[in-house]
Amino acid sequence: MFSVQEQIVRYLKQQRELYGDAVYIARQEHLRVVSTDMAQVNSDGWEETSTLDDLHQQIHECLNCPLGSTRTNFVFGSGNHNADLMVVGEAPGADEDLQGLPFVGRAGQLLTKILESIGLMRDDVYICNILKCRPPNNRKPLASETDECEPYLVKQIALVKPGFILALGLTSANTLLKNKESMTSLRGRIHDYHGIPTIVTYHPAALLRNPEWKKSTWEDVKYLRSLMTP
Ligand code: SF4
Repeated sequence: MFSVQEQIVRYLKQQRELYGDAVYIARQEHLRVVSTDMAQVNSDGWEETSTLDDLHQQIHECLNCPLGSTRTNFVFGSGNHNADLMVVGEAPGADEDLQGLPFVGRAGQLLTKILESIGLMRDDVYICNILKCRPPNNRKPLASETDECEPYLVKQIALVKPGFILALGLTSANTLLKNKESMTSLRGRIHDYHGIPTIVTYHPAALLRNPEWKKSTWEDVKYLRSLMTP
């Protein structure tokens, strides 16, 4: 758990990354929420949570990074709480931010089709993002933001206990796997994220811009399915 002083230093560093030397002052009610959150955590940095709903309730007002102040809705995740497959994207987009649900826009519809192509319904899997709040204008997440938010994902994984993770997109994969490898190098093999076998493929939004990558994605999800099927 970070001390108040450490939290202030981290906050100011995030502000500098986002806004340069201009200082952003959170509204008073936000400061109250941060204070409440700090009171909730235990010595391990977490309030005891036994279900995803408990975790959602605990963190849905999070303001630990500046994205909390620009989001419309917090996007926790959706799907089967006991899923064998957890699908992890980078961050909510505009549609997700408006609806408070992951992968609901055009990219989400394509994800649904990709899952169905290997015999999985959306309700069979658990879908979420590394970041729970939308970066303005869909810019790439900052390292400070993923550092702050990734522990929520780790907690979600601990509660769902998936057999496999499908990382969607290079940003998601590089963030989870802590490397800078290319998509070409990451595809087609099993990685490890917190002990969970993890497969990497293209983000559906990238497929909408680059339809020629769909064949490779099909190969990736077929490979994933072959691993899942005993
Ligand atoms: S992106 Fe994550 S860390 Fe930042 S405010 Fe949202 S939930 Fe909190």
